[in-house]
Amino acid sequence: MAKKVFLIDVAKCSGCQCCQVACKDEHCGNDWMPIARPQPDTGQFWIKVNENVCGTRPKVRIHYIPTLCNHCDDPACVKAAENGAVYKRSDGLVIIDPEKAVGQKQIMEACPYGAIYWNEKLNIPQKCTGCAHLLDSGYEKPRCVENCPHDAIVFGDEEELKDHILGASMLKPELGLHPNVYYRNIPGQFIAGTVYDPVEKEVIIGARVRAVTGGKVYKTTTNQYGDFWFEDLAIGFFDVYIEQKGYKEKSFIGLHTVDCINLGDIPLELLEST
Ligand code: SF4
Ligand code: SF4
Ligand code: SF4
Repeated sequence: MAKKVFLIDVAKCSGCQCCQVACKDEHCGNDWMPIARPQPDTGQFWIKVNENVCGTRPKVRIHYIPTLCNHCDDPACVKAAENGAVYKRSDGLVIIDPEKAVGQKQIMEACPYGAIYWNEKLNIPQKCTGCAHLLDSGYEKPRCVENCPHDAIVFGDEEELKDHILGASMLKPELGLHPNVYYRNIPGQFIAGTVYDPVEKEVIIGARVRAVTGGKVYKTTTNQYGDFWFEDLAIGFFDVYIEQKGYKEKSFIGLHTVDCINLGDIPLELLEST
């Protein structure tokens, strides 16, 4: 059977949480044995919409990244399970057998993505099943995919989606588990600021700004509000230089884009006339 993958377009995700609610609606209070026992009403998010806030006011960007079990090709949970309590289906979905997994807390602890939850009442680990019970009944899409109002989540055969997967990213690929949840358009970091003349108390329009990293140079100019933005940067060290005719050059050396950087209001000093 063809391997299934999830493809999430972060640019389309509004953070509405309809997917989260749909998963709850499908699994809370419903017993889908042999695939899953009921999900508890509280405390579990088999799909979780994470809010990422980047920068500082007023230069802030927010994006949302839904996370769920990655249905890995080399799953740590399968290795940690005893008696074959976690298995990978021929369609690639990784399923925790609710009967065999009773008492096996190490299954939950083994997932480096934190995708598995512990159900105290039933004494079992639980997670996203890919809605395998629906697929096995002839449905084409899991509930979270069906209920996304922006088509931000796509589910389908890896082969059919291969062109879209190309260039997409995965979460923590360095773990080597080979996830099957792909992401497109996860925004990079930014460096931004506002350039102004402290004497005139006016923003400076058209100042030339360069961001330099490892031989690469990004260029922009300040807009009508005196703002500049370098978007979608990689994590690394940057030197930023700001120039405007009649003013002294301003520089910021060794900025580390581990987070987005708002340099705030940047005064440029006038050159002394000779
Ligand atoms: S339903 Fe779609 S748009 Fe809403 S949070 Fe989930 S993935 Fe994002
Ligand atoms: S994300 Fe975690 S729970 Fe899901 S298959 Fe991979 S290791 Fe297992
Ligand atoms: S595929 Fe099904 S179980 Fe998995 S997160 Fe979506 S709705 Fe929940």
